[in-house]
Amino acid sequence: MTSTAEAPVTPTPIHHWIGGNPVASASGGTAAVRNPATGEQTGTVDLATAAEVDRAVQAARAAFPEWRAMSLGRRANLMFTIRQLFDERRDDLAALLTAEHGKVLSDARAEVARGLEVIEFCCGIPQLLKGSMSEQASSGIDVYSLRQPLGVVAGITPFNFPALVPMWMWPVALACGNTFVLKPSEKDPSASLLTAELLREAGVPDGVFNVVHGDKVAVDALLEHTDVAAVSFVGSTPIARYVYEKATANGKRCQALGGAKNHMIVLPDADVEMAADAAVSAAFGSAGERCMAISMLVAVGEVADPLVDAIARRIADLTVGDGTDPASEMGPLITEAHRDRVASYVANAAAEGANVLVDGREDHPEDGFFLRPSLIDDVQPGMAVYDEEIFGPVLGVTRVDSYETAVALVNEHPYGNGTAIFTRDGGVARQFQFEVQAGMVGINVPVPVPVAYHSFGGWKDSAFGDRNVYGTESVDFYTRGKVVTSRWPDPATSKVDLGFPQTH
Ligand code: NAD
Repeated sequence: MTSTAEAPVTPTPIHHWIGGNPVASASGGTAAVRNPATGEQTGTVDLATAAEVDRAVQAARAAFPEWRAMSLGRRANLMFTIRQLFDERRDDLAALLTAEHGKVLSDARAEVARGLEVIEFCCGIPQLLKGSMSEQASSGIDVYSLRQPLGVVAGITPFNFPALVPMWMWPVALACGNTFVLKPSEKDPSASLLTAELLREAGVPDGVFNVVHGDKVAVDALLEHTDVAAVSFVGSTPIARYVYEKATANGKRCQALGGAKNHMIVLPDADVEMAADAAVSAAFGSAGERCMAISMLVAVGEVADPLVDAIARRIADLTVGDGTDPASEMGPLITEAHRDRVASYVANAAAEGANVLVDGREDHPEDGFFLRPSLIDDVQPGMAVYDEEIFGPVLGVTRVDSYETAVALVNEHPYGNGTAIFTRDGGVARQFQFEVQAGMVGINVPVPVPVAYHSFGGWKDSAFGDRNVYGTESVDFYTRGKVVTSRWPDPATSKVDLGFPQTH
């Protein structure tokens, strides 16, 4: 579908970024990039071959020795400059996000703001890499532990946070002294190129940060490349599992974050209006295309009826439209195919025995890939709408009669990314935090995305690998330990001793 009145847009070519410059693909393979609010093709992105991925990895490899040798003081200073540039250009980044992803501008600005927090965390890299020392571990012997960078590391990222998810990765990887190859989503690739330009402007040397666009071919080339030491992945669970298995089989360190089905439990003592505000915000913000979106509401006891009513009232008032319009609260979905896939869950829900209270397939804008929010009651495990990640503006409701049944639902679900409980009872909230099987927990907070100095990651099928992204866990991920045992020569104490070293 194209917009009617205006002249068609000429698609902008979107190239790789290798060694500090844009590089057009020689392969000829491309994919269309569309504005989801109009359906119009706005860009044509190159798809990398294995040889082009190799070129990017070689650029990163060549830049590594000098980059890792840069003093911590200078690297920290550079992080401050990067922070300043991203702050100054946050509106430009946000505009690109809205143009290619479709999220409303205020949400796009919030995405950039959360990414800036990770850069700010990295301004303290000297403190984070301080290491530790034990003086006189044995007589005349000191032992100290260091963290050193891995080399070339790769990031493979999803469409739903085209600036933020890469910012979970590259600031920490670079601050730790690694060089980086980013393979962003081919659906909204332009934010990664503005990132590359800003890093060059800040003074990051050529080759330290590279971008290759592409699909499975580019991903496989990174996973198989002998010069890639580690892979950070964020995306859907089947691909996360594949990336984790292939990267680790090839001897790489890997963190692979997958999909989600986040439950929000509302207890009978909760403030119904507050819980309804939270559920609507968390389910329909960014059209539900957030891995921390609430997609299942678990209503306990008598709270169900008033809560469902309060949510339905709020949905009726939501404004769905082009993300550039300040009146829009929710934009379109990323592609026509994804919009149709999301709509199919709503279409099939009644046949599965659920009760579609609000059908988002009605009354949405004609152009682009829009749906309105849907609310589906009486959802049960075993229905596709319960079991599967929909990743769209669809909120399911399950009614249960006790806290115990509610928490069992969360714990039995294969995904374990985020979850939330709404209650005034501190004791129950504490019990929930203690026993719930999920990586990120909100207590009266529906989208508990950790701040940059804590780490982000799920449990169960929502993440593979044992180190989460950003925060101190990511400093560990992007470095490896080295322990030095040192003695200064003292001829008076020297002798031949074939025994295993012991402390004295
Ligand atoms: P996706 O898995 O389709 O794609 C992610 C990346 O993998 C992209 O760069 C893509 O090009 C690449 N890719 C796709 N198919 C591939 C294949 N067959 N082989 C190798 N690489 C492939 O995910 P998406 O649709 O871009 O993003 C949405 C998904 O990401 C949702 O499942 C969402 O929950 C998840 N997500 C998770 C988190 C988290 O922190 N856990 C955060 C954001 C998004």
